[in-house]
Amino acid sequence: MSALLPQLPSFDLKRNYARVESEIKEAIERVLASQHFILGPEVAAFEDEVQRYLEVPHAVSCASGTDALVLALMAAGIGPGDEVITTPFSFFATVSCITRCGARPVFADADPVTYNIRMDAVKAAITPRTKAVIPVHLFGQLCRVEEIADVLQEKNIALIEDCAQAFGAHRLCGGRIVRAGGWGGYGCFSFFPTKNLGAYGDAGMVTCFSEPDCGKLTRLRVHGSAAAYTHEEVGINSRLDAMQAAILRVRLRHIETWIEERREVARRYELLLAERGLLDKLQIPAEDAGNRHTYHQYVVRAEGRDELMRFLAGKGIVTRVYYPLPLHLQPCFASLGHKQGSMPVSEKLTEDVLALPIFPELLMEEQERVADGIAEFYRK
Ligand SMILES: *Cc1c(COP(=O)(O)O)cnc(C)c1O
Repeated sequence: MSALLPQLPSFDLKRNYARVESEIKEAIERVLASQHFILGPEVAAFEDEVQRYLEVPHAVSCASGTDALVLALMAAGIGPGDEVITTPFSFFATVSCITRCGARPVFADADPVTYNIRMDAVKAAITPRTKAVIPVHLFGQLCRVEEIADVLQEKNIALIEDCAQAFGAHRLCGGRIVRAGGWGGYGCFSFFPTKNLGAYGDAGMVTCFSEPDCGKLTRLRVHGSAAAYTHEEVGINSRLDAMQAAILRVRLRHIETWIEERREVARRYELLLAERGLLDKLQIPAEDAGNRHTYHQYVVRAEGRDELMRFLAGKGIVTRVYYPLPLHLQPCFASLGHKQGSMPVSEKLTEDVLALPIFPELLMEEQERVADGIAEFYRK
């Protein structure tokens, strides 16, 4: 029976592609004609455009968001014996970059309303070995970085923002607008295809504030080499393709429109769910005061999450769980010795969060279908 229902996917890149197809083809043709495929002028132009859009001093592209995090940690000199504080409620790469550098992840629990890392928990987790903090701007809105900025500066702890889900997000703070990546440390971005600014393959970017940091990141992404075949340090191979850069340049021109459309989708969900009296069954996403949420995901907390998810699937509506297992309890980090109960908020979130379909082209009728499905589930 459900096979007869039109599927409502959690995201649909094809609808987006249809809006930019001719521009994308033109960009790809340009790269093909140039026969310049790795780094080069197309990549440099994309870096310039992102640097201007984000209003940061430097933007250094790389091969993925995961590499962006690794490169930032390497540039900050993080290694064995160091501790790096982050959230257990995020994508795996937020923590794997720390262990990849030989450092020890230390967790600070998330906030039950914004889902972002709590800065009082970060402060409590600081030890003399703390060398970096990685706040994750989860689902598209910024953490309250201002609450720890002074402490980090005073203790000389590096700030590495995981901005993978927050390209274009900003926060009004002390009368000033601060963008994701704009807090003065490193900003790590992912252009994975489903991210708000997505490539048509893997791609990433690190932003930074000082000339020496920019130089270091630029070397580290090409084996630690500034001049051909001479290596000042051991880096990695993490270069951006010209093809992806050309595609991203097209998509960057539209990003403001698409973010505004996502925000409109979020506003409509709130209205539709409220109309059906569902706001006591679901906790909808809260935009923290001062934030411009970019709604990379629209994540609600739901009583009976797993049953609701199955019920909606039966109606052809695809929802997702970001994330089903907190990072401190991942089997590969068992040696850190965390137990169930050590990060209670994150653990609870993994049990009740549900991401509803969201993408710029999502239609009002489709959102009504989602809201009706949820209402029917709770009427049973
Ligand atoms: C997507 C993502 C990453 C990793 O980015 P990739 O480009 O897939 O390597 C890191 N952190 C968070 C929070 C992400 O969502």
